[in-house]
Amino acid sequence: MDLNRGVKPDPRRSLPSVDRLTREVLALRPDLPEWAVVAAVRAEVDESRGALELLLSRGAKNSEIEDVIGTDWSVQAIVRARKLSEATPAPVINATGVVLHTNLGRAPLSAEAARAAAEAAANYSNLEFDLETGHRGNRLGALTTKLELLSGAEAAMVVNNNAAAVMLALDTVAAGKEVIVSRGELVEIGGSFRVPAIMEKAGVRLVEVGTTNRTHPDDYAAAIGPETGLLLKVHRSNFAQSGFVAEVDLGQLVEIGRRHGVPVVEDLGAGTLVDLSRHGFPADAFVPSRLRLGPDLVCFSGDKLFGGPQAGILLGSRRWVDELRKNPLARALRLDKMTIAALDATVDAMLRGRAEQEIPALRQMLEAPESLAIRARALAERLERVAGDRIALTVEEDRVPVGGGSLPGFELPTFVVSIRAQPGGPGPQRIADGLRAAPRPVLARVRDDAVLLDLRTLSEADLDAVTEALEAALR
Ligand SMILES: *Cc1c(COP(=O)(O)O)cnc(C)c1O
Repeated sequence: MDLNRGVKPDPRRSLPSVDRLTREVLALRPDLPEWAVVAAVRAEVDESRGALELLLSRGAKNSEIEDVIGTDWSVQAIVRARKLSEATPAPVINATGVVLHTNLGRAPLSAEAARAAAEAAANYSNLEFDLETGHRGNRLGALTTKLELLSGAEAAMVVNNNAAAVMLALDTVAAGKEVIVSRGELVEIGGSFRVPAIMEKAGVRLVEVGTTNRTHPDDYAAAIGPETGLLLKVHRSNFAQSGFVAEVDLGQLVEIGRRHGVPVVEDLGAGTLVDLSRHGFPADAFVPSRLRLGPDLVCFSGDKLFGGPQAGILLGSRRWVDELRKNPLARALRLDKMTIAALDATVDAMLRGRAEQEIPALRQMLEAPESLAIRARALAERLERVAGDRIALTVEEDRVPVGGGSLPGFELPTFVVSIRAQPGGPGPQRIADGLRAAPRPVLARVRDDAVLLDLRTLSEADLDAVTEALEAALR
């Protein structure tokens, strides 16, 4: 084959014109917005020009250059324009069964919380205005009092997320001082939150005590000196330790702190103000029981077990919460009005005693397996009608973690519709890819030779869309 055939002296001349390609793509896909097509075409052409220049400067082979100019520009530009014009974030159907899926936005809001956020977003409000006095008011209004009433804490404060809460607590309580942490608790949560890195950024000096598997009360006591500003306990949110292990519990740590006059803070990660222990959930996630052990502050996420919007909630002593509020960092880490409204509505459901019914994350976590089984059979029946004989469907019992760096080692019983390939049919990865490509993408678990649709996170209202997605995936 003559590889030189068709390659002009300057291959950059073979790049399409932005105008012409834009018109071509818009004719093929009139549904795509023009701005996105223009941007996509420009990016494609620029990228190819860059690639060609690099190849030319390296004296690359003609075949490599032909690969670039042989690109199907309009197909590439359509894919890019479609991605660009999609809403961010775009809604998906969570069929993984993982209630607090970090990649899927953790806790979904209750209808009331979503409505409150939309209302706050679209209207003026008394966000920082006291209607009684006619003067400037407190941004968090009654929200902090409600959190105090629910938790039994002396005082409450809320910031942008739990990472911000930890940062604010460290900076407020221990700036420039030493913070003592067990080596067994120097955790990483989801890539970018690492306890040692946060400490460095907060301007405190990390003092590690104990070993990876065992830390004793004496380890803390021996490390306390004139420079000690804080004893910090960090919840091992996303892993569990077993075997030859020992840790100092929060009550013991508070006792050591008292003896030496050093404050104690717990980063609980996932906390709840609804006692889930009577449903078999680990008791240490119930914040009031942590507060009763007497730490100066406890902080946790608003969108994990709490079931509300992204936020970092700090509860504890009036003295330290007053200091948190005065810290200039609090301004940089503050909540926006939509989040305040959503969090307030979430807390309101708790005060009314309706949290388990109204808050989706709690409702999903607490749904009885028998009720999941009924919905699983209903889904299997619908899927059966569109499936033909290229896949086999079964309803199976399974177990699924809660997710979101909450309750490590704890799993919920669940029911799944399991899809297995039949001879001549698409494999599990192909089916999962097809489900993800649906207009309303469906995210499923893939295990061994099966695609699992988990009913713990699928509501009755999702079943039609899942059925349509599978039908399309099998075409
Ligand atoms: C999740 C978690 C964080 C980070 O919380 P965000 O709300 O995601 O910022 C920090 N510490 C612990 C222990 C966590 O589990």
